[in-house]
Amino acid sequence: MPNVGPLVDGYGRIHNDLRLSVTESCNLRCIYCMDEDNVDFLKKSKYLSVSQLSELLRVFKKLGIKSIRLTGGEPLIRKEIVEIVKAISTIGFEDIALTTNGMLLQKYAKSLYAAGLKRVNLSIDSLDPLKFAKIRRRGDLETVLRGLEELKILGFADTKVNVVALKGFNDDEILNFIEFSIQYDVAVRFIELMPVGATDLYRDENVLTKNEILTIISSKWDFVENKRVNSPAVTYTGTEIPFTFGIISSMSESFCGDCNRLRLTADGFLRNCLFSTTESPLSQLLDEGANEREIETAVRTEIFRKRFGHGTDTVGYAVPNKPIYKVGG
Ligand code: SAM
Ligand code: SF4
Repeated sequence: MPNVGPLVDGYGRIHNDLRLSVTESCNLRCIYCMDEDNVDFLKKSKYLSVSQLSELLRVFKKLGIKSIRLTGGEPLIRKEIVEIVKAISTIGFEDIALTTNGMLLQKYAKSLYAAGLKRVNLSIDSLDPLKFAKIRRRGDLETVLRGLEELKILGFADTKVNVVALKGFNDDEILNFIEFSIQYDVAVRFIELMPVGATDLYRDENVLTKNEILTIISSKWDFVENKRVNSPAVTYTGTEIPFTFGIISSMSESFCGDCNRLRLTADGFLRNCLFSTTESPLSQLLDEGANEREIETAVRTEIFRKRFGHGTDTVGYAVPNKPIYKVGG
């Protein structure tokens, strides 16, 4: 394992994008992510403090991390979220982004913008208030759309709308989402359902695949595929009207060969993949008073042992022992 130079895994993939979970808790209960009741969220006292986070982020910066995406759980329910964005901004990364369900976006967007947040991905799985309620179980579409309007008012660029594509739930809304992207001038990204939730919704028959999504869209629109640039999404642009949409096809066509991501859980465990079954407790190193060099070595070791692919299509695939809301989506 190289102990200088960029953060590489055993296959030579350079890692420069950190998904940073700031909480496991959530104000919604999406059917593909967590159960409706009795969810076992971590105690808040276990979360990394802002100063612990800053200490780790300084090491990540030295290791070549360029972009940070805040996630969770729902990152906007972490009460120090603005302070965290400020800390990341002060350390200095090329990009600071956030993935949110949008329920608290209108409230926090202005302070987050002032603190240095650059981009937002907003999850909206249905444009029909009743279906929204069925999929997300709590919250409401209207509040989320007010959050989206607020982003526009503030001048946030490159906002994306995430849609988990679910057969039998929102497959009849794919074309509506394209209309929506034209109307709101945002890019929509359809995400294939993945077996990383704590629920039993994941079944092959519930996955709306990339090809099925493309077939639906091509029934109404002409579009061309764009060149892929270090993103999990394949993107497309309309040829008659300049709308853009993306598809994250983790299940039908994995993009592991280009992966540049690592993940830190809210309680300080480093994971080299959303589907990983191993992790390194960086929080423990902090508690033991480890120096920068020791933390750096732990990070390099965890990344170096990353598997080539998430392996969901291999015999003996085991669903990760931590669901997506505990790792950070
Ligand atoms: N709470 C925030 C939100 O919903 O945007 C951030 C965390 S969430 C875990 C991050 C993203 O993962 C969301 O876009 C969500 O829709 C997606 N997601 C969650 N569970 C998923 C699953 N089983 N398959 C595919 N995507 C999933
Ligand atoms: Fe919460 Fe996001 Fe999971 Fe939905 S997908 S339950 S909003 S963490």
